[in-house]
Parts: sequence; C-alpha cells; structure tokens
Amino acid sequence: MGDDIPAEAPRQVVVVGASMAGLFAAAAAAGTSNSVLVLERDFLPGTPKPRAGVPQSEQPHVFLFRGLLALEDLLPGSGQEFLDRGAVPFDTGDLPWLTQHGWLPVGRRAFEVLSMTRPLFEHTVRRRVEGLPGVQIREGCRVTSLRRCNRRWEVSVAEGPPVLADLVIDASGRSSRLPIWLANAGMSAAPVAEVDTNLGYATRMYAAVPSQMTAVGVVIQQTPATLVGGMALQVEDDRWLVTAVGCGEHRPPRDATGFESFLERLPDPALAQLIRHAEPVSEVAVHRQTGNRRHHYEQVPAWPDGLLVVGDALCAFNPIYGQGITVAACEAVLLRQVLAAALAPGYTRRLLRKFAAVVSLPWAIATSEDLRYPTSKGHQALPQALFGQWARHLARLAVHGNSRAHAVLSRVYHLMGSPAQFFHPALVAAALQVRLTGYGPPAPRPASLAALTPPTPRPHPPAD
Ligand SMILES: Cc1cc2nc3c(=O)[nH]c(=O)nc-3n(C[C@H](O)[C@H](O)[C@H](O)COP(=O)(O)OP(=O)(O)OC[C@H]3O[C@@H](n4cnc5c(N)ncnc54)[C@H](O)[C@@H]3O)c2cc1C
Repeated sequence: MGDDIPAEAPRQVVVVGASMAGLFAAAAAAGTSNSVLVLERDFLPGTPKPRAGVPQSEQPHVFLFRGLLALEDLLPGSGQEFLDRGAVPFDTGDLPWLTQHGWLPVGRRAFEVLSMTRPLFEHTVRRRVEGLPGVQIREGCRVTSLRRCNRRWEVSVAEGPPVLADLVIDASGRSSRLPIWLANAGMSAAPVAEVDTNLGYATRMYAAVPSQMTAVGVVIQQTPATLVGGMALQVEDDRWLVTAVGCGEHRPPRDATGFESFLERLPDPALAQLIRHAEPVSEVAVHRQTGNRRHHYEQVPAWPDGLLVVGDALCAFNPIYGQGITVAACEAVLLRQVLAAALAPGYTRRLLRKFAAVVSLPWAIATSEDLRYPTSKGHQALPQALFGQWARHLARLAVHGNSRAHAVLSRVYHLMGSPAQFFHPALVAAALQVRLTGYGPPAPRPASLAALTPPTPRPHPPAD
C-alpha cells in the first residue's frame, strides 16, 4: 500500500455498491475510463421497489435543489425523466412548514424541486447509468475484501473470482467494511466523528387523500423541546408518504394504531387529519439508523492511490436534513472533473480532501442542530453554538415575515449559498430592530391546510 499508480486515467474502475452514491460515481467515471464495473450485493428489482440493501427505501426522501442541479450535470435530462415517470414538482416556498416559532410564510418563490419515492429515484438513475458506455452493474455480488496487488487493487467477491481494478470507489453505505479492510492491510484508522440524536422514522403510504388538500405536503418540524415531528409528501401515482419522527424514547412505533395516535399528539393536527381521510396502502415501515457519522479518510497518512470513498460510507447524515443524496451527487461532480484531467500521483488523496470540504457545511448544519438534543451525546464548541443561536433567530424573523431571513435560510438549507449570508447587514439591522419594537405578528397557518384540517383550538397556558 502507499505506492503510486501512473499519471493516466484509470482503465478499470470498480465501484462497490449500486445505490445512489455508487450510481453517481459510475456516471462520473463513465467516459473517462475504459470500463466501470459496479458490484452490488443485492439482486436489483426490474421496477421501482424497495430492496434489502437499502433499508431506508420506504422512508421519504427529499432532494435538495443543489442535488438536483448536480444530478442534471451528471445525467442531463434526468429532471424531465423523473417528471415523465410521475414525480411531483413543487416550489419549496409553497410547502407548509411548522417551525418551533410558528409557520413559515408560504407563497414566495424559492426552489423548484421534485417529490417522488426513493425507489423511483434510484430506479430512474440506475436505468440511465447502466445505459452509459462502458458501465456494467453486476448484481448479487458481495465484495468481501480489498487488497493492493502490485499497482492495482484486487477486489474479492463472495460469488466468484476476484476482480482487478486501477481505481476502487467504496460506495457501500453506512455499513461499509472499508475500515476493516484498511486495518487488515496495516493502514492507520481514519478518525471517526459521530453525533446521534437516536431519531426514529415510521412511514406509511396512503392513497385517496382528499382533493381539498391543495399543498403537496406539510412538515411539522421536530425540535429539541418537542422531540417529535412528522411530514407528509405527495409522490408519484397519487400516493402520499406520511411519516412520524421522534427521538430516543419518543421514537414512533411500527403498529398502525400506535402510528396513528403518535400523529394525533403532534403540535398541529394536519397529519392526523390527513390520514383520517385517506386509505393506507402499505404497512408502517420503521427505520432507526440515523446518526451522523463521518470518517476522516482525508487524514489517513500515506493514503494509497486508486482508492476513494463516497456517499454514506464517507459521511452519513441525520436524514431529517435531506442531505445524503445531494452530497453524493456533488462528490461525483468533483470526481468527474478530476478523472477528466491528467491524473498525477496522489490524486485520490487530494480528491478526498475536496470531498471533505464538500461534506463540511452539511455536517455543520446537521450536527450543530443535533447537539442541542437531550438525546445526543457530546457538546458543541462555543462558536458553533453561537452560530446556531443566530440561525434560530433568523428562523424566528422569517416566521414573523422577514423575507430576506427566509430566503437566506432556504438557500443555505438547499446548499445553494454560504452561511456567511446569515450576517448580511440588513439581517443584523432587523435583529436590532426587533429588540426595540418586538416581533410583528407571525405568519398564519397556511390556507392550503385549512379545508382539510380546521385547527383545533389549543388551550391557553395557565397564567402565572
Ligand atoms: C430514514 C432515511 C431517510 C433518508 N432521507 C433522505 C432524504 O430525504 N434526502 C437525502 O438526500 N438522503 C436521505 N437519506 C440518505 C440517503 O438514503 C443516502 O445518503 C443515500 O442512499 C446514499 O447512500 P449510499 O449510496 O452512499 O449508500 P446506501 O444507499 O446505503 O447504499 C449502499 C449500497 O451498497 C450495497 N452494498 C453494501 N455492502 C456491499 C458489499 N460488501 N458488496 C456489494 N454491495 C454492497 C448495498 O446493498 C447498497 O445498494 C435518508 C436515509 C435514511 C436512513
């Protein structure tokens, strides 16, 4: 290990895992390498269906605007293809969203995104990628180990002879065995950072949601105070995914009755009302592996050439922020740029540093919020805590009608802008002003929820 491969494009690329990060990496490598072989342990369904190797398949997946742009760059025309297959387009400025301070105002243009199930997303991307020149997906093929073999890599699989590669890309997700394979090769371990709120998801699919529901979804954001939340999103074929989330002891249950009563207890009745009028078409699916985990492979000394890590295998995020797929797509865009240029020794190490830079902002967004939860271990540094406090102050301004605060938060959330925008002089001035005048009235509950969900009057807190 540690020796360099020649400064030329890798002839044979092997990608471990044919989920989103593996497919994006294969798309990036196609055209710059002679052949790209994707090894996937699952047998892949011929239609959009959940599968064992991606246990989160039944949970809702949102796609940040930055991710849709990166995907369009990697696979031009994919946005239209999703629409042709039934994805639901919507403007994020129209999505009813209850924060800890109240409802965000709706009706201001923000980002045009798409809503669909995770299986439809993956299936559509896989169809495109397997049609690219030089790409082959070998299914039912589990990678068991990795070893340096002269200047190449020998990838052992459970079901056949080993495969030789000039470049191996690990995209095998949260359960990646790379740390073990590297240890077996005598390499030092990469530092690992973890922050886990012990968040649980429970999701059920519904049909026949009443047409009075004019929004394409609704989000009841969970907070460190409530520890519970939920969301509903319209997806292809007139179906809706309705999800309950909760942390620690408040994780939602798997049984249908428990799921329904969990939704009844949320701070707004929208989700409970929505399912009361709709028809369930699946069981409740739960998922509880949601911690943030980041492997700092860029810090491993003498990192060998011809080995990369992408997607959740490199950094898995608390999924509530919807970042994983976007980060994997951004990594693939970088990979393509590097493979298209003449490769110099040390290129994989440099690329890992670039991936680390891509990961840093979403990691900071997710962990600075998650470290506020009583269910998380660890504490944040003072600058991070102050930054988070300022971001929450902006969210409060947004709820009370400050459109600049709303737009800036939305840009950073969709990874379309730098958090430096949080300190725009107009926002600092607005913050000073509310100290003198107080906040104006908060935004009302969105009218798009009114027909379906008349708000239940909440009891007033007892006077002191
Ligand atoms: C509940 C939940 C909700 C989520 N919601 C969102 C969301 O809203 N938006 C978003 O962007 N992201 C979301 N994510 C994250 C998203 O699912 C992942 O970031 C995304 O799937 C990219 O992961 P990946 O391709 O790196 O790994 P995975 O999707 O985990 O795939 C790994 C692949 O590698 C294969 N594999 C594993 N080991 C081997 C082996 N030894 N040999 C061969 N193949 C192997 C597996 O079978 C699988 O196909 C969510 C995740 C969870 C858990």
